[in-house]
Amino acid sequence: MNDHRISKACSNHKEKICCNGNLFIISAPSGAGKTTLCKAILDRIPNMLYSVSYTTRKPRNGEQNGIDYYFITEDDFKNRIKNNKWAEWAKVYDNYYGTSSEFIDASLAAGSDILLDIDFQGTLQILDQYHDSITVFIMPPSLDILKLRLKSRGTDNKDTIARRIAVAEKEMKNKNFYRHAIINDKLSVAVADLISVIEKYRTGRE
Ligand code: ADP
Ligand code: 5GP
Repeated sequence: MNDHRISKACSNHKEKICCNGNLFIISAPSGAGKTTLCKAILDRIPNMLYSVSYTTRKPRNGEQNGIDYYFITEDDFKNRIKNNKWAEWAKVYDNYYGTSSEFIDASLAAGSDILLDIDFQGTLQILDQYHDSITVFIMPPSLDILKLRLKSRGTDNKDTIARRIAVAEKEMKNKNFYRHAIINDKLSVAVADLISVIEKYRTGRE
């Protein structure tokens, strides 16, 4: 736990069990393609909810409030920490990100499966409370390709991309902590691999 980002995560020791729906946690270094993969999964798998995170970062071009993220102020975020509103939260690249406890608990209780796109700090906190969560790590084929994808996405400047690559190298060391790892090389193959992991846990529930 020597990653400087982990020390900033909250410690929340409620113990909960996913007794109805499944929680699927997807993590990856920025630019590896988890947003693209999550969208593909939501289009293809019925009855799968996406946990829209809250963040204090500014929206990127094309991002919509309530769909990609709920964009909130730092004051609002910190108030929600005080009021125990987060199932998990973390500071990532100078911004706060959090998952609503209320959304997760209500959706699981209603029997829904949920897809969470969160980082390693958040993964540890969710597993601490929802022990049965299924964790999947998405890998880029290489750091060079990751760099190309970040460039082609066109949302980050040169310095930010360099920082994301440096953090990516550290994050990829957490890969073995996850139950499943998928390499996002050819998109259609990665989508099929992710669907097969998800379907394995959903079999028999529908
Ligand atoms: P993340 O959410 O992990 O930061 P994105 O889903 O935004 O990553 O993907 C980063 C960029 O890479 C986007 O421009 C996306 O279109 C592209 N991309 C994602 N997966 C692939 C793939 N398998 N092959 C080529 N480009 C991809
Ligand atoms: P981005 O700003 O590029 O959308 O996301 C940056 C990082 O924050 C990614 O690693 C993403 O998985 C992570 N992230 C997004 N939402 C959450 C969240 O609610 N909680 C945590 N812990 N990480 C999140």
